[in-house]
Amino acid sequence: MKTLQAARHWVFDMDGTLTLAVHDFAAIKRELGIPQEADILHYLAALPADEAAAKHAWLLAHERELALAARPAAGAEALVRSLLARDCRLGILTRNARELALLTLAAIGLDDCFAVDDILGRDEAPPKPHPGGLLHLAERWSVAPAELVMVGDHSFDLKCAQAAGARSVLVNLPDNPWPELTSLHVRDCGQLLAQLLCR
Ligand SMILES: [Mg+2]
Repeated sequence: MKTLQAARHWVFDMDGTLTLAVHDFAAIKRELGIPQEADILHYLAALPADEAAAKHAWLLAHERELALAARPAAGAEALVRSLLARDCRLGILTRNARELALLTLAAIGLDDCFAVDDILGRDEAPPKPHPGGLLHLAERWSVAPAELVMVGDHSFDLKCAQAAGARSVLVNLPDNPWPELTSLHVRDCGQLLAQLLCR
């Protein structure tokens, strides 16, 4: 915990981490004819170009609706603003699209907290769990990947952090199914903030 208190470079997953989780991935897969066990973005990437484009367009429209209706997760705004007040560098690494990340952040009142170039979506970085997005931010911020802390709600976030050599915090899941991948597990962003503030 002490070392996390000293961390100055924080990268957040967006959906389900800063927002209340609303994506129904099983329903999305049914709608797009994607096998339940498949990864949505990898599956679409392997389709013929016209079919992939049509399904990406449907996904973008669906996720736009979700973005406009996004609501903040418990403690997310307080955590982000507290880190900003301590001069931390903050980024977003999401499998969503950057334009929808911007809409989502506006909907939850955090759009002034992240530089656009520090928001990496599926067109700016290979999708998590690939570590490319974290490595890009580390290079952009001129720090070693080990200086980064990735905060997320999914094994993709934790695996991405591990592959990059960064630390990870799991939030918004009552139990931790992946303790071997997790530096810290807390109830939500509010509890993370409380632990960062306690001395
Ligand atoms: Mg998430």
